[in-house]
Amino acid sequence: MSDYYTIADLFHRDILDANTLVPARLAVIGHPIAHSKSPQIQTAALKSLGLEETMRYIRIDLDIDNFARGIEQLRHLGFIGCNVTIPHKQAAYALADKCDAFGDTVKAINTLHFTPQGIMGYNTDGPGFIAAIRQEFSLDIQDLKILILGAAGGAGTAISYACARQGCEQLILVNRTYEKALKLQKLLSPYFIDENRLSGASDRLQSIAWDDTKQLANALRDVDLIVNASSIGMSPVDASPLPSRMILPTHIVFDTLTHNTKLQEEALQRGARVSNGTPMLIQQGALSMAHWIGTLPDTSLMKAALA
Ligand code: NAP
Repeated sequence: MSDYYTIADLFHRDILDANTLVPARLAVIGHPIAHSKSPQIQTAALKSLGLEETMRYIRIDLDIDNFARGIEQLRHLGFIGCNVTIPHKQAAYALADKCDAFGDTVKAINTLHFTPQGIMGYNTDGPGFIAAIRQEFSLDIQDLKILILGAAGGAGTAISYACARQGCEQLILVNRTYEKALKLQKLLSPYFIDENRLSGASDRLQSIAWDDTKQLANALRDVDLIVNASSIGMSPVDASPLPSRMILPTHIVFDTLTHNTKLQEEALQRGARVSNGTPMLIQQGALSMAHWIGTLPDTSLMKAALA
């Protein structure tokens, strides 16, 4: 068994299933993919459902040119479905015959299900984020004032839509490329028109340029939840995306990165409540599994698999 498989391997079942009697029938596809923790959590999910003797979950590295061909080959091999990560989430949306409402809204999906009726697509990143906040902090998104760093990236867009759809109290979009934040703000604005609220759409939904430190500091004084959905922190040498002095003990900080980062370290030192992205990874994975198998796996076993 290999750490990950390539497009060439998908044309040989004997390579995919070498040295095992359990056939690969689920996968995560990305480029690069070797670092993905999805096989650890999804293998635990399969165990929790008593299915570990019937199917395996593997990593597949496909570049953009081979994505559609790879998906076609997985269907041919009788795969049930796959998770999709960077850089294929938009391509997966384009390939799906039908999507859930959230995937259709974001126009990017992370889950494909191969069915006799065609390829079904789902975005479980947004719902996974909502479930993670509820699980980690016992809080509902609709009660929160939220600021998202990297709001217009792939994960940031899914999280922003999820917060908007849940009717959060306030949403502040921060993105390095400011124009992308403004574009997203326009798309999200219909969710913030609510005649029953005293504050209007313009107060509840705003964009801030990442380098407008003054406006960022002002906004942070009033928010409950800070989400880092930017890629800052991916490299161990990355500095925190926020100056430490802007983080308050009243803040909740959710960093989508699943390893420890400077942001998490500094936020803890400032007295904030902090979570890394592992709960979101687990929740989105559990929701994907439920789409494929029809039952939610035990997330505590998925969490234990990462310990
Ligand atoms: P992406 O689509 O490439 O978006 C990257 C975002 O980061 C964009 O907003 C980008 O801004 C911003 N960015 C990149 N470098 C920056 C810098 N030096 N300064 C300021 N902003 C910068 O990537 P993605 O798929 O959304 O992934 C983003 C993060 O989310 C990754 O760390 C990934 O591991 C994490 N993630 C976690 C989960 C989970 O389940 N925990 C799921 C999905 C993703 P521009 O728009 O200006 O380029």
